[in-house]
Amino acid sequence: MPERTPLSAANWKMNCTSAEARALCDGLAGIERIAGVEVVLAPSFLQLPIAAAAFADSAVGVAGQNMHTQPSGAFTGEVSPAQLAELADWVILGHSERRQFFCEDDLALQAKLAAAASHNLKPILCVGETQAERENNRTRTVLTRQINTALGDNPAPPGLVVSYEPVWAIGAGQPATPEQAQEAAAHIRGLLEGALGEPIAAQTRILYGGSVKPENVADFVRCPDVDGALVGGASLDPDAFLEITRRIAAA
Ligand code: PEP
Repeated sequence: MPERTPLSAANWKMNCTSAEARALCDGLAGIERIAGVEVVLAPSFLQLPIAAAAFADSAVGVAGQNMHTQPSGAFTGEVSPAQLAELADWVILGHSERRQFFCEDDLALQAKLAAAASHNLKPILCVGETQAERENNRTRTVLTRQINTALGDNPAPPGLVVSYEPVWAIGAGQPATPEQAQEAAAHIRGLLEGALGEPIAAQTRILYGGSVKPENVADFVRCPDVDGALVGGASLDPDAFLEITRRIAAA
């Protein structure tokens, strides 16, 4: 089985002024020296240069939280993959807040995955079911639709990471259980195998996201199919995100 370097990813969402982003980066000093884990920070577009500069001489990656499909054009308010690629090497796609509040659907994500690939941006594709979907035993069906539609018949997006983020666990203070995370991650790996073949499925990292904290992260990354975490709220506290990253590396 290929080694999958665990990933610790921070989604700052629509938080941080420039001064706050600088302070957060200062608080994360030394994160680049934690061995055995890859780190990605996803500030808002406006704060990307701050994070990119703070960790310029390190392996810490920076990510956009979204992007348009087109390289340029009349799309007021949007950021193109070409613009993003000047500053970032990663992009989060399909976060549930994008799906819920900005009507992003699986077909749009198929186009965004292809655009990311053509601009050398590594995608973190977020998938996950709502509370109602879980209660109606539709978790697997929803994950299947989200993954299969987003991947389509396209070649494997280089550097693809998938983040399993049950919508009901995001920002809720109530995470999934490690068993639920493992069951979903194993299902996702099976879908990747069907769509992209076994070698790529075996090397693709699958994260868990949803109310991850220093106290619970190790329980998730000990699951055989969970290779790290995508962290929202707790990533705004540098001490908490440093500790989460250390625990991911140690698990
Ligand atoms: C997220 O926004 O991707 C997330 C997982 O948020 P939180 O950690 O706050 O639940």
